[in-house]
Amino acid sequence: MSYLNTQLFIHGEWRDAAGGRTLPVFNPSTGLEIGRVAHAGTADLDAALVSAQKGFETWRDMPAIERSKIVRRAAALLRERAADIAKLLSQEQGKPLVEAKGEALAAADIIDWFADESLRVYGRIVPSRTSLSIRQMVIKDPVGPVAAFTPWNFPVNQVVRKVGPALAAGCSMIVKAAEETPAAPAALVKAFQDAGLPPGVLNLVYGDPAEISGYLIAHPIIRKITFTGSTPVGKQLAALAGRHMKRVSMELGGHAPVLICEDADIALAVKSISAAKFRNAGQVCISPTRLLVHESLRKEFTQAFTAHAQSLKVGDGLTEGTQMGPLANPRRLVAMAQFTQDALEKGAKLLHGGERIGTAGNFWQPTILSDVPLDAKVFNDEPFGPVVGIRGFDKLDEAIKEANRLSYGLAGYAFTASLKNADLLARRVEVGMLWINMPAMPSAEMPFGGIKDSGYGSEGGPEALDCYLNARSVAVMNV
Ligand code: NAD
Repeated sequence: MSYLNTQLFIHGEWRDAAGGRTLPVFNPSTGLEIGRVAHAGTADLDAALVSAQKGFETWRDMPAIERSKIVRRAAALLRERAADIAKLLSQEQGKPLVEAKGEALAAADIIDWFADESLRVYGRIVPSRTSLSIRQMVIKDPVGPVAAFTPWNFPVNQVVRKVGPALAAGCSMIVKAAEETPAAPAALVKAFQDAGLPPGVLNLVYGDPAEISGYLIAHPIIRKITFTGSTPVGKQLAALAGRHMKRVSMELGGHAPVLICEDADIALAVKSISAAKFRNAGQVCISPTRLLVHESLRKEFTQAFTAHAQSLKVGDGLTEGTQMGPLANPRRLVAMAQFTQDALEKGAKLLHGGERIGTAGNFWQPTILSDVPLDAKVFNDEPFGPVVGIRGFDKLDEAIKEANRLSYGLAGYAFTASLKNADLLARRVEVGMLWINMPAMPSAEMPFGGIKDSGYGSEGGPEALDCYLNARSVAVMNV
């Protein structure tokens, strides 16, 4: 199946890096090199910066209705091309084709929603407290050119969660997408190009992540930083942005607790959590990680959950019927072995998995650990893979305390038939997103993001647009 080499996209043109450097791209199902991606140097970044400034001036001054038409055209092209983009995505990232196509289609929906929302960037008129002849206005303006850094787990969707609101607000962007998965984001950017996006509004670069972020964050043209990735890297970039007084959004790691109460519908909990845990081989920031099950249901839940994991068909994402693909890179294999070994050494029981599958590609068995001690690594650090731990609890307060124990606060799940419990959980579980009696359903119109060490700023809902807008006060006295 053909795979494309990826170039940089600067000022409306696809081009090689000025220095001619490239990086290899591997298929995680085979471990083999399938293509190359251009590696930007300083000259390329300077060109992207000049372009983003020009693009900003054009885009900012275009009526919102015109902007939204172009953006909606890009979403339509993305939908038309979803099957082809899915093949690229699956080859470079590993996820099953059906998930890859779903990602491209969901991305098109997000783009559409923000295109519509761009028509509703309203300011307001505020009555003066001193005189009727003073008119006070709140004006919302785009912050300026944005530098965006996106990871490899949802190569298209993570870009769209930033590009959607930024373009809707009237900003231009330089996106540094993940070097591991470059072709799918490039296909997304091509849809914007073909939809008629003016040059400079959206630039795409790849290279050395630390070098690029260091250069762009410090540069005066860039007015806003947005990053999705691990909490340690997020903290570094936020600190750098702070030194240069740049606005920041951070969508960082999570360690989602799942609270299964005494009165939960077990079948619903098993169905919702199994699907969520092993989607994208667990490489999802909102993946369920700490399963806290009321003792009275523990045996029944654990058996059904384990049976689901045992039944999963693990394989190449391009093979029909595959339900879980490989891990995106060999680093994750090493991490899965460490998480598993550490938990077992500390006294956890292995209910399923715990081993690499084969020797080619990055396949890891769906892994379920039970009776996990609180000091096990898997109950403290984000596994970001198909490894999950289970513990029992007797009182809901105990489970809530455990849910809130970590510094992460991204997603959480709960299952209960009681409105009283649901209300308590909604108020007390410290996460940015909580799903009760259902699987995760992040949608464009709802806020998406974390609290605590999981970051700040939203990537959904009108709140996402606010992250790319300045609210300015203008007062006029009629003289
Ligand atoms: P990592 O922390 O090295 O990298 C995570 C992402 O950040 C990658 O896309 C990488 O290119 C980028 N990055 C790293 N250093 C950077 C820098 N100085 N400037 C700009 N970008 C930089 O880890 P990894 O091995 O690639 O991924 C593993 C961890 O990353 C996981 O444990 C998970 O916590 C996190 N992660 C989170 C998400 C998410 O959706 N929140 C997505 C991917 C990875």
